[in-house]
Amino acid sequence: MREAIGTAFNKGLGDSPERQEAPVTKIGALAAVPRLGALCYRLKYANDARAFAPCVLLLAKKLPRKVGIGMRKRIAECALKEWVADGCRACLGAGVTMFGARKVVCDMCQGTGKHRHSDWERSRAMKVPDAGKWAKLIGEAHRIIVGADGMTGMVVRFQLERP
Ligand SMILES: [Zn+2]
Repeated sequence: MREAIGTAFNKGLGDSPERQEAPVTKIGALAAVPRLGALCYRLKYANDARAFAPCVLLLAKKLPRKVGIGMRKRIAECALKEWVADGCRACLGAGVTMFGARKVVCDMCQGTGKHRHSDWERSRAMKVPDAGKWAKLIGEAHRIIVGADGMTGMVVRFQLERP
């Protein structure tokens, strides 16, 4: 578990192998992070599936209350899954593919390396007839996740006294 969290930090901070504190130091740093960010870190960078349910619930509670908690949980779940597996399926996140012997910009993601989730995919994932209806709230959930992820990186760097 500690090793997993250590690995999480290395990925989350984009570390080189020589710039690694002991995993236990990094767990200490995680204690100072707001809860959603810490859960997001565990989920994405440590592949810690146990963080998923609490992460969904916390994110759902942060979404605007104009829809019921059941729907907000589905939206949170959808956004979190998209965020964890965000790589373009065609180029596996590279942004380029081989065309014969030449490297070309990936058509599917236009070079971003990120997968664009269609309303159809979202409808299937959320088991609703028209996920397009929820696109704004899914976008809002993504903004909250990205904010929490960025904040976590900042706090952890500060805790570990990094430039
Ligand atoms: Zn691509």
